[in-house]
Amino acid sequence: MADTVFSKIIAGEIPSNKLFEDEHCIVIPDINPVAPVHVLVIPKKPIEKLSDANPEDQALLGHLMLTVGKVAEQLGVSNGYRVVINNGEEGGQTVFHLHVHIIAGFAMKEGDM
Ligand code: AMP
Repeated sequence: MADTVFSKIIAGEIPSNKLFEDEHCIVIPDINPVAPVHVLVIPKKPIEKLSDANPEDQALLGHLMLTVGKVAEQLGVSNGYRVVINNGEEGGQTVFHLHVHIIAGFAMKEGDM
């Protein structure tokens, strides 16, 4: 898998404001937020996209989801937020290192994407 901006952030080659970090993932603000709260949960393991995850990644994927909940609480948005994973170019993915968007801070209606 080619280096991406996220692998460089994880390696410390590009500075970032880490809101959370543990042995498996980091959480950083999205550089181009689409809502008042927009952060990214990024696994340290370089998985290109969700559909490349293997059965051996099951615990890691669960960990990312639990981290979403933890970080949402930390950011004070646990009442409501949207969780998005763009998978592949046709899914709107632009950085090919798996990441989970947490988007919050405005009222989202059923049917909004
Ligand atoms: P996606 O379109 O799902 O691949 O999302 C990639 C996201 O990464 C976009 O929302 C970008 O704004 C964000 N992004 C790109 N470069 C950086 C960076 N250096 N730091 C933080 N977020 C970034």
